[in-house]
Amino acid sequence: MNTIHRRHFIAAGSLTALAGITGSAAATTYRKGPGDDHRGPVCVASGNGVRAVAKAWDLMHEGRDTAEAVVAGVRIVEEDPNDMSVGFGGLPNERGVVQLDASVMHGPTHKAGAVACLENIKTPASVALEVLRRTDHVMLVGLGAKEFAIALGFPEENLLTEQARQAWLRWKASHGPDDDWLNPEQMDWQFDDQGHGTHTALSMADKDPIPFTTGTIHCSALNAKGEISACTTTSGLSYKIPGRVGDSPIIGAGMYVDNAIGSAGATGRGESVIQSCGSFLAVQYMDQGMTPNEACRAVLKRIADRTKQKRLLNAKGEPNFQVTMYAMRKDGAYGSATMRPGGTFAVCDDEGPRQLPSEPLFD
Ligand code: ASP
Repeated sequence: MNTIHRRHFIAAGSLTALAGITGSAAATTYRKGPGDDHRGPVCVASGNGVRAVAKAWDLMHEGRDTAEAVVAGVRIVEEDPNDMSVGFGGLPNERGVVQLDASVMHGPTHKAGAVACLENIKTPASVALEVLRRTDHVMLVGLGAKEFAIALGFPEENLLTEQARQAWLRWKASHGPDDDWLNPEQMDWQFDDQGHGTHTALSMADKDPIPFTTGTIHCSALNAKGEISACTTTSGLSYKIPGRVGDSPIIGAGMYVDNAIGSAGATGRGESVIQSCGSFLAVQYMDQGMTPNEACRAVLKRIADRTKQKRLLNAKGEPNFQVTMYAMRKDGAYGSATMRPGGTFAVCDDEGPRQLPSEPLFD
């Protein structure tokens, strides 16, 4: 059962109006939250996007288009080798190849651009913006996306950092005691950082945990002219089956903009977001009267209600996976909600860039 945080209150007025939209959803599902009362220009991102919102905000104030601002913002994270969920340094697929997904949407023209399974190009959101700008298409995938990027002068680079490669090797060795790759604790010949061998087997305590992502960056921006753009970029689920495309490059799933309403984005288990058209749904919920926080929570509730597979549910019948939604309304109200505790989001307005907690749907 959710507890009602002091700063939240049930938006009783809007609940009556929403009854027809939401069906059986319990009233406590929909609560206003911090950001719902904000008005005016704002940039909103996933929790790893504090630098992105600061950059997007600055560029917007220099008069740059909102689409350019959000793409430049997320580019900081795409190029950061230490963020293992996005761009350069992202964790690879099961074959050790980094495949990136990204999408951009520009509210004033209602145009979208996306790339999926893009290899060897560090900055997929910038390529998605070029698909939007230079072509009559919305999405390019795989080799076609890479050739398009190279034709435009994007450098072809190895995206697998040493840190990500080591994580992938540990993952390969972790499938079971009978696979042919030895786990660190099974090896009796170790090499130190200088490449010197020793015969000391690692203890279980020395074993580095294998990093898995969920992780992605979403960023939306609203300027003083009421123009909205959004983008989402990711290396997707770690160790995924080659060719797997998540929600991030899918227009309406990983992000969506309707300049007459607002924007939304998603991070987390992409398959679940795709199956509920999460970002499109959040924007539609705002059009029907929900605040951004209410809309985010309502999308998560919809995803939870539609999750039927036992392996995705905990003992209480709640989704055992994480999805975080972010939403921004055309007047500058904003919000975020997360399926399970721990999600955060980033905001920048006149008060500067900061990270805030996303309120969980389930405790
Ligand atoms: N949504 C991304 C995907 O499914 C991953 C994530 O955000 O964790 O590819």
